[in-house]
Amino acid sequence: MDISVHLAAESQRKRRPADDSSLGFGKIFSDHMFLMEYSNGPGWHNARVVPYGPLSLDPAAMVLHYGQEIFEGLKAYRGAGESICLFRPRMNFERLNRSAARLCMPEIPPDDQIEAVSALVRADRDWIPSSRGTSLYIRPVVMATEPALGVRPAAEYLYFIIAGPVGNYYSRGFDPVRILVEQRFVRAARGGVGEAKTGGNYAASLLAAKKAKEKGYDQVLWLDAGRLEYVEEVGTMNIFFVMDDELVTPPLTGSILPGVTRDSVLRLAREWGWKVSERPIGIEEVRKAAADGSMREVFGTGTAAVISPVGSLSYKGEEITIGGGRMGEVAGKLYAEITGIQYGEVPDRYGWVHKVA
Ligand SMILES: *Cc1c(COP(=O)(O)O)cnc(C)c1O
Repeated sequence: MDISVHLAAESQRKRRPADDSSLGFGKIFSDHMFLMEYSNGPGWHNARVVPYGPLSLDPAAMVLHYGQEIFEGLKAYRGAGESICLFRPRMNFERLNRSAARLCMPEIPPDDQIEAVSALVRADRDWIPSSRGTSLYIRPVVMATEPALGVRPAAEYLYFIIAGPVGNYYSRGFDPVRILVEQRFVRAARGGVGEAKTGGNYAASLLAAKKAKEKGYDQVLWLDAGRLEYVEEVGTMNIFFVMDDELVTPPLTGSILPGVTRDSVLRLAREWGWKVSERPIGIEEVRKAAADGSMREVFGTGTAAVISPVGSLSYKGEEITIGGGRMGEVAGKLYAEITGIQYGEVPDRYGWVHKVA
């Protein structure tokens, strides 16, 4: 793929905050963005890195009316030595293509996507913070731009990638989150778009999350859309349970987002010889295991936090405390191993780390 690079003039450049502890998540954006257009016939064309700025969009652009949009989330960080690395980027780009297929959008060869992200990261390399646990968060998006109001797959699309420095999620320590088991709203139904990374899933989740926050909870635990019986995800993360000596996560049956972090946790746990199950887990089973003491840990997994320990679950008015409300041994070991591989402190046995520069 040919990528033209038009760097921002010195006077157009912003200043990266000098203090890594003030970065937060998703509020600051770097100096450049990647753009590429698609139209039926020529296919993907005009790949370029340009200064970051507003997009010009026709108000009839189909994404604004029918939500034909998909995205990804991954990180670039300073790994071993002076290297700049991505973590398992091919998994993100293959997933973007599966999301694209589900929403009738054109796919983009994973190698081209890796080239695109690499070109952007190289242009913005000064934006990658250096303290341990910080990174440049990368957000690739594909959306329908064709101006038309008929409901059908669009004939024109934009692929853009933006990036911004993000802080260490745990710079102030691990604070296990308080979760409300959602009894009314659902995130996704089997046969729907729950396994695609598409904005509509997030829009659908806002009301439950807002109501949970009003009641003092950090996030909701989503149950299956059929009978509200089985656990699916926690907030915008995949979920894991440690019961006795078994590590359990729900199977990927269509309504759950197949996380890269989820896959990494499963690979490591199997390598370590742990008993690992991808099986349906009922909320009643969770309640019983917590009551009889066999539920040792609950945690969420996702790119932003890597591992996020759950401290308590509120289910039908009952507060279930997990592991004394602290980060558990299993969660801690997985967090140390995954971030250790990312930052080049632990051998990369699986070729997960992809060097960009
Ligand atoms: C992105 C996402 C995840 C986590 O995926 P990772 O690849 O591990 O970041 C989990 N659940 C939902 C709903 C997501 O959108």
